[in-house]
Amino acid sequence: MTIPFTLPKQRWELKFSEAYPLYTDAEAIAEANRCLYCYDAPCTKTCPAGIDVAVFIRKIAERNRHGAAKTVLASNILGYSCGCVCPDVVLCAGSCVLKDFKKPVIQIARLHRYATEKFLSDGKHFFTPATATGKKVALVGAGPASLACAYELKLLGHEPVIFEKKTLPGGLNTTGIAPYKMTAEDALREVEAIRRIGIEIRTGVDISSQIKTLLKDYDAVFIGVGIGDDTELNVPGIDGDGVIGSIEWIEQLRLSDKPALPKNTKRALVVGGGNTALDAARELAQLGVPEVTMVYRRTAQLMPGFRHELNDARIEGVHLLEHAVITEIVREKGKLKGARVRASDEDIFLQADIIIIAIGQAKWRDLLMKFPDVELNEANEIIVDEETGRTGNQRIYAGGDATPGMKLVVQAVADGKRAAQAMHRELLQTGKGGA
Ligand SMILES: Cc1cc2nc3c(=O)[nH]c(=O)nc-3n(C[C@H](O)[C@H](O)[C@H](O)COP(=O)(O)OP(=O)(O)OC[C@H]3O[C@@H](n4cnc5c(N)ncnc54)[C@H](O)[C@@H]3O)c2cc1C
Repeated sequence: MTIPFTLPKQRWELKFSEAYPLYTDAEAIAEANRCLYCYDAPCTKTCPAGIDVAVFIRKIAERNRHGAAKTVLASNILGYSCGCVCPDVVLCAGSCVLKDFKKPVIQIARLHRYATEKFLSDGKHFFTPATATGKKVALVGAGPASLACAYELKLLGHEPVIFEKKTLPGGLNTTGIAPYKMTAEDALREVEAIRRIGIEIRTGVDISSQIKTLLKDYDAVFIGVGIGDDTELNVPGIDGDGVIGSIEWIEQLRLSDKPALPKNTKRALVVGGGNTALDAARELAQLGVPEVTMVYRRTAQLMPGFRHELNDARIEGVHLLEHAVITEIVREKGKLKGARVRASDEDIFLQADIIIIAIGQAKWRDLLMKFPDVELNEANEIIVDEETGRTGNQRIYAGGDATPGMKLVVQAVADGKRAAQAMHRELLQTGKGGA
C-alpha cells in the first residue's frame, strides 16, 4: 500500500538494520509451535490492550495467518507497530510460563508483527463500522492514542476527526521510535491503513487557538497530545552547536536527510538514564560513533530505562558513567569541545563532538490548561477517571502519554479504546458526551 506522504529518500534512519526482522512463515510456525497455549494465559492478562495472545499464536501454528491477524487487530488496531516496538519481555512475554521451565520465552511481539504485516500491505479491514449515529468527535494529536480511539469510535458508528499539528501523522511512531525497531514509512503505512476505515485526519493544524470551536462543533473531544518538548539542561555553555535535545535529534534522524552527526564524530555524550536516553545512545553506537557515554546522575540500578535495553546498549559498546552530572559545556570559539562533569565526587572533563540531552520532556501545560475543567497533576499530566478516561469536563476525554501511566504505544492504544467505549455510552445516553 502506498502512503500519501513524501519522505526524503536519503533519511538517516535507513542506515540502521532491523533489530528483529520479520519472521518467515517457517520461523513463525516453528516459534508458534513452542507455545503451551496456557489455559488462563498470563500473557493475555498482561497485555494492556487485552489481545488473546494464546489464540492468535495457535492460529499461526495452524497456518492461519489471516485469522491470527483478525484476533490481534480485534483488540489492537496498532498491532503491527506494537509487534515492532512493544517491550514484550516486561509485558506479555515477561509472564510466559516457559520461563519457569528455564526455556526461552515465546517471541510474542515478533509473532504479532508477523500476523499483522499484511494489514500494512493491503490495508483491508476485518470489521465494518456500525450504522452512523451522527455524533462527531474531535481528537487532538494523531499519535497511537488518538488513532486507536478514532478507530474504535468509527466502528461504533461515530464520526471521528483527528487534528494533528505536524505535517505527518503517527505521533512518536513516526518521529521518535528507534529506527532499528520500526521505520517512519511503516508507521505511516499503518496510519494510512487505519485511516482507510473512514477516519478524517487533518494535518498541519495546531488546535491551541481553536479549543472553544472544537467544543462547539463536536459532541466530544479526545486529547491525545502526548509528551511535550525536550526539557532543557540549565548549565553554562549549553547554547550553541553540537548540543541537542533527544526528541529533536531522533526526529531529525528519522525524517530528514540532513546529517544527524557532525563530520568525523568520535565521541558522543548522552545525558539521562531513561528509555529515550538509552535509545539515543544505542542509535549513536549503531551509527558507528566509536565512544558513546551515557552520563547519569544515579546508579544503573536506579535507572528508569529498561534493564534489557541497558544490556543491549552495553553489548553495542555504550559506556555508562554513574553518579555523574554535567556542570559546564565547554566550547572553543563557539565550537563544542566537551563537558565538565562531576562524577563520584571528582571533577573530570569529557571530550565530545555531540551532546544529546535526554533528561525528560516538559508537558503541554499551557495548552492543556486551555481546556475548560481539565485538571493536571503535579507532573502536568491530565487527571482522568480510571474506568473511562474522562477528564473533569464531561465532554473531554484523554489518554496516552499526556495522562498518568506507562508511556508505551500499547498503553496509548488501551487508553484510546477505553475512552472511545466510554464516549460511546455517554453519547448514546445523553446525546452530548454526558454534559
Ligand atoms: C524516543 C522514544 C522512544 C520510544 N520507544 C518506544 C518503544 O520502543 N516502545 C513503546 O511501546 N513505546 C515507546 N515510546 C513511547 C511511545 O512512543 C508513546 O508512549 C506513544 O507514542 C504515546 O502515544 P500518544 O498518542 O499518547 O502520543 P504521541 O505519539 O506523542 O502523539 C501525540 C501527537 O499529538 C500531536 N500534538 C501535540 N500538540 C498538538 C496540538 N496543539 N495540536 C495538534 N496536535 C498536537 C503531536 O504532534 C503528536 O503527533 C517511545 C517514546 C520516545 C520519546
